[in-house]
Amino acid sequence: MENFDLIVVGSGPGGYIAAQRAGDLGKKVLLVEKEHLGGVCTNKGCIPTKALLNSAKMYRHALDSEKMGVTAKEVTYDLASAMSWKQDTIETLRGGIAFLMKSAGVTVVNGEATFIDKNRIDVAGKTYSATNIIVATGSSPLVPPIEGSTLEHVVTSDEVLEIKKIPSSIVIIGGGVIGIEFASYFSSIGTKVTVVELLDEILPMMDKDFAKLMRREMKNVDFNLGCKVTKITDDGVIFVDPKGNEQSVAGELVLLSVGRKANLKGVEKLNLETAKGYIVVDENLKTNVDNVWAIGDVNGKSLLAHSASRMAEVVVANLYSSEKQKMRYFAIPWALYGMPEAAGCGLTEQEAIKQNREILVGTTQMRANGRFLAEHGKRASGLCKVVVDKKSKAILGIHLIGPYSSEIIASASVIIESELRIKEVKELIFPHPSVAEILKDTLFAIEKTL
Ligand SMILES: Cc1cc2nc3c(=O)[nH]c(=O)nc-3n(C[C@H](O)[C@H](O)[C@H](O)COP(=O)(O)OP(=O)(O)OC[C@H]3O[C@@H](n4cnc5c(N)ncnc54)[C@H](O)[C@@H]3O)c2cc1C
Repeated sequence: MENFDLIVVGSGPGGYIAAQRAGDLGKKVLLVEKEHLGGVCTNKGCIPTKALLNSAKMYRHALDSEKMGVTAKEVTYDLASAMSWKQDTIETLRGGIAFLMKSAGVTVVNGEATFIDKNRIDVAGKTYSATNIIVATGSSPLVPPIEGSTLEHVVTSDEVLEIKKIPSSIVIIGGGVIGIEFASYFSSIGTKVTVVELLDEILPMMDKDFAKLMRREMKNVDFNLGCKVTKITDDGVIFVDPKGNEQSVAGELVLLSVGRKANLKGVEKLNLETAKGYIVVDENLKTNVDNVWAIGDVNGKSLLAHSASRMAEVVVANLYSSEKQKMRYFAIPWALYGMPEAAGCGLTEQEAIKQNREILVGTTQMRANGRFLAEHGKRASGLCKVVVDKKSKAILGIHLIGPYSSEIIASASVIIESELRIKEVKELIFPHPSVAEILKDTLFAIEKTL
């Protein structure tokens, strides 16, 4: 039996970062992965979706660029080429992660880990032991118990990334980030898209004004809000609308994007405490077993790749370095890479009001921004909303809808995490022309109201 300082189970952005960081600190580390290095993020999530979304964006740009002086004749979208671009990207990144593991001296074993006890795991009949273990087994698509959900034309985000033919129509059940990204993708490549969402608005983490604008901008998508799907049939979906009427919508393909569930197979022996299906962890990401940590999607705290990686850094720093760190959740940015793009960090206006905070709110149209106008024209829509604490003037939330949002939000998270106030951000210099300048403009707009 080989003994390690640390065993990491699962090689997503939580697991491989944990393994790399601990390896770099000179620890003897084993990383176990039953599928491919990189986990959901690299193979079935963040990366493949962005590769496909970008191809669809380019297709749309090619179709729409005549007014800017570019005429492309016979523009077509070839799914097979887009899929092979996506696959090539995945494989390059997988190779990059393998290289990182090698450089950090991490031993990688391919196979399913099953816990024997709190210090030992079994992989394909071989036993490995470690003083500390990190569970980073991630999550999988949730398949709701709806009649018809196992029919052949019903897919989750895993299978939809492998389709061979562009469907003429798709019904997407669930209007969260994953559902809306796929709605953007398919509607851009010519598929008729219908979204059926149980709640009365899509994208529950988003500012309500923004969610409305998002729907308005996704002109080719038919949204059915407050609707409960009751059955999936051979050619579509049956749902009950808010008035209690039964409706049906046709779909060659049906995508289930109603949430995720933690991957707990293999960890049963540990008797880890769970809540709502996710492993319970304390503020240090430790489970109820004293040498076992759980990071990333599997603990359900924040189902984002960058959150998983940050949790990995926190656990490894606290285990093996003198620098004690804390996982903070307030300034975790999220981004939606649809058409349009959107991103947010910190409190939305609605959340701040719910918390009875006294706030100032500023909203600016992106049309007023030079770069946005130059690249998208005066008919395009985009917004920036900033939420500020009325008394301290600290920035509590930044929300964007429009191009580059996913890039600008990185600076927004620095602003919020550092608890910067209006005055401090106003004194920063932003490059011109950049869409990011909208942040400063919005702060000046807020100041004007004082
Ligand atoms: C379609 C889609 C798009 C997404 N887009 C984004 C995005 O743009 N940005 C973003 O931040 N997040 C995005 N996410 C979420 C992101 O992918 C996850 O938050 C992230 O991958 C979680 O990382 P993780 O390390 O917790 O686990 P995962 O990435 O889920 O990896 C866990 C790994 O553990 C392995 N494993 C499980 N059990 C065992 C076992 N017993 N033995 C060995 N190996 C095991 C699995 O095979 C898997 O490879 C997206 C998700 C999906 C589905």
